[in-house]
Amino acid sequence: MIVLKSDAEIEKMAAAGAVVARVLNLMETEIAEGITTAQLDELAEQTVRDAGGVPTFKGYRGFPASICASPNAMVVHGIPSSYTVVDGDILSVDVGVTLDGLVADSAWTFPVGEISERTRELLATCEKALLAGIEQAQPGNHVGDISAAVQQITEAAGFAVIRTLVGHGVGRAMHEDPQVPNFGEPGSGTELREGMTIAIEPMITAGTHEIALADDEWSISTADGSMSAHFEHTVAITTDGPRILTVRTVPESAAAATSLLA
Ligand code: MG
Ligand code: MG
Repeated sequence: MIVLKSDAEIEKMAAAGAVVARVLNLMETEIAEGITTAQLDELAEQTVRDAGGVPTFKGYRGFPASICASPNAMVVHGIPSSYTVVDGDILSVDVGVTLDGLVADSAWTFPVGEISERTRELLATCEKALLAGIEQAQPGNHVGDISAAVQQITEAAGFAVIRTLVGHGVGRAMHEDPQVPNFGEPGSGTELREGMTIAIEPMITAGTHEIALADDEWSISTADGSMSAHFEHTVAITTDGPRILTVRTVPESAAAATSLLA
């Protein structure tokens, strides 16, 4: 069942999203050779709690931490640990915050020091695919329009979409209907309506799309060991178009907000 959100609920999600964005901005500052993912998790949790929020992931189905930290070939759901970041890594950080009962969810993949040209392209493509997907999040469009846009950008750059992991409705709970796959046909799937709030989250790889679950039963990596990127925003569908609720920079004007989608 799809839960439509009131304007008041969307504002609360934007407040939660601002905390998520603050955490990701902090991660971008702190991620450097020598830091462990457990240290990053500690910083993230403190930031969320200082803002009066609750880290949504902590305890979710038993997940032990506040962020997912997934280096290199790890796609998602990495458990923060003693893993020490080194130059040349990429690190995907996924953050969920519950504030005043509403949830926002966003992820970003950060380069550490110098990374290869192809990996840089992987990150740029994933971010571009996210923005192309968001652009399709309009009333009257369908989920498949988002999916197709993400797939098109990804495959045009020679990368592959992970097929078994999907975006999702979000807001009153972390995972709501509908599912938002990163591949599909334009015009297919659920029609998008004002008041829907969804997490759009391309997960893409430089190799094939097969994945493998680790023995910790959480972390998922590419089966072939290829690098993987993950960019995610929580987006509200409004009559004025898509509204990013986890925006990491506050645009100075409506024109700047629009250019984020260009
Ligand atoms: Mg997420
Ligand atoms: Mg998500």
